[in-house]
Amino acid sequence: MKVRLPDGKELELEAGATAREVAEALGGRWPKQAVGAIVDGELYDLLKPLPEGAVVQLITKKDPEYQHLFRHTLAHVLAQAVREFFAKKGYPPESVKLGVGPVIEHGFYYDIDAPEPISDADLPEIEKIMHDILKRDLELRRYELPREEAIRRYQGVDPYKVELIQDIPENEPISFYEQEGFTDLCRGPHVPKTGMIPPHFKLTHVAGAYFKGDASRPQMQRVYGVAFRSKEELKDYLWRLEEAKKRDHRKLGRELELFLIDPMVGKGLVLWLPKGNIVREELMRFMREEQQKRGYQLVTTPHIGSLELYKTSGHYPYYAESQFPPMELEDEAYLLKPMNCPHHVRIYAFKKRSYRELPLRLAEFGTVYRYEQSGELHGLTRVRGFTQDDAHIFCTPEQVKDEFKKVIELTLYVFDTLGLKDFRARIGTRDPNSDKYVGDDAHWALAERQIQEAASEMGLEYTLEEGDAAFYGPKLDFVVNDALGREWQLGTIQVDYNLPERFDITYTGPDGEPHRPVMIHRAPFGSIERFMGILIEHFAGEFPLWLAPVQVAIVPITDRHHAYAEEVKKALSAAGLRAEVDQRPERMQAKIRDWEKQKVPVILVVGDREAEEGTVAVRDRRKKERYTAPLAEVVQDLARRVRERRLE
Ligand SMILES: [Zn+2]
Ligand SMILES: [Zn+2]
Repeated sequence: MKVRLPDGKELELEAGATAREVAEALGGRWPKQAVGAIVDGELYDLLKPLPEGAVVQLITKKDPEYQHLFRHTLAHVLAQAVREFFAKKGYPPESVKLGVGPVIEHGFYYDIDAPEPISDADLPEIEKIMHDILKRDLELRRYELPREEAIRRYQGVDPYKVELIQDIPENEPISFYEQEGFTDLCRGPHVPKTGMIPPHFKLTHVAGAYFKGDASRPQMQRVYGVAFRSKEELKDYLWRLEEAKKRDHRKLGRELELFLIDPMVGKGLVLWLPKGNIVREELMRFMREEQQKRGYQLVTTPHIGSLELYKTSGHYPYYAESQFPPMELEDEAYLLKPMNCPHHVRIYAFKKRSYRELPLRLAEFGTVYRYEQSGELHGLTRVRGFTQDDAHIFCTPEQVKDEFKKVIELTLYVFDTLGLKDFRARIGTRDPNSDKYVGDDAHWALAERQIQEAASEMGLEYTLEEGDAAFYGPKLDFVVNDALGREWQLGTIQVDYNLPERFDITYTGPDGEPHRPVMIHRAPFGSIERFMGILIEHFAGEFPLWLAPVQVAIVPITDRHHAYAEEVKKALSAAGLRAEVDQRPERMQAKIRDWEKQKVPVILVVGDREAEEGTVAVRDRRKKERYTAPLAEVVQDLARRVRERRLE
């Protein structure tokens, strides 16, 4: 048979040859260094026969694909290790039944049906066996079997594998990989020897999983692992994982008494506790102020709307599966508000509009309700009721660019104030091969150009996602990376040609004729709940002074300093600061520790000297400073930091 190399050179090989034979034919460093190959664009190992005439490009440990090869082999090593683990307890190998074991981002997993449940506590022992398998440097062997024989082999032994074989399409080979007597039904690809797997892996946790994701099937156990090329990469990943756990907004939300999701109230419905509500209100106040500076007008609309409204807008029945069902009363039906847009359109339509009024920007922190499946709910980031930082801009087609620029400017200003430094945009445009879009072609082309120009002129980095536009208009989405480098999709700015059409809204142009306005939906942070969840994790609960629920804790050294502590509090409150005096009969050090645990940005300690001199001993958590200064000076400094919404 013949294969070709990337440079066009042809190689003559024996029938059934693999990439290993290619490496040997090439000689030099290849036999030692090749770990796999890209064959006609597909990742192959050194064990799978090459197709006739294929273009074969060998890869080494330096290529990114290597990671996929060893992560997949690690899944097999994990399964083999679990069998050895249970063999030590006296179970035969076939008592450990295997589902699927794929490669995932950062690592791999294997779905296992074991004779006894595997717990997180078993993982270190299983890991040890895996390291031992790596050290034994076992050779992997690949072979194929006819379908009938393959099924016979697992019949009565492993029902999962029988089903998996039956799922393999008729024209595909049924291949197995074997090392040291451990055999697995598998498509590959793998590294050729277990010794070629870097020992930088870790089993992270066990979770329940259904075979093929089907909840009517018996539950299996999914053992997760991560694996990297170098010790540093593994260490860095594990640090991020640990840090992410510490920062989990659900955990911090409880510890810092920010919010509550109470099953008795309902799944996915957020109760803001007094402290969390302070942060939320501060954030909304900030956004409201900045919007008003930029020409937005505030409106308020109710939490429900008539079904007729949503039939006109098209939100019903087209999005019915993501909404709560209609409430029927007398001869009317109502919907819990899934979107604020139709309400705002009706505010636009209540009187005749002139081009002189455009752009008209109507803003509302509007609470909406969406039906999310219970399995999809997650803390503040996936909920069933949330408040959007919503606004609708009604403008002429020519004004789209300017309005986008203004929204981008506002968003960047907020990012900057909150210390979110790493962000980009995704611009969704039409799929040129589809005809699902409403609105006229010239307007689409104009808007797509205007959005890109707006992003470039504002210095916003963006990627272009063709075909990502909604059927009613192109859009720009904001994506931020938080302090741990995790990517979060926030809100969106979206052009809409559809709603103005459906509601038949117009404005009178300079020519005295009626024209159709363009509508821009704009919720740059998406929902306040989600944004708060992201901020809690970004700050690890350590909010900057202006956002902190308790800004200053005052700790008197003993009882006799309470009077002065109250005086300090009065001075802080008069300057608009949120301060609390710790009157508990605890020791000073214990009090300080408690306030530090609550991540209060500033602690003021007061004793004899401070009372006498009219000073306070400052412990500034954000600035990482300790000093003593006159009370009036400290109050002034803190008030200024709050007023300017400083990050520290
Ligand atoms: Zn496999
Ligand atoms: Zn909208």
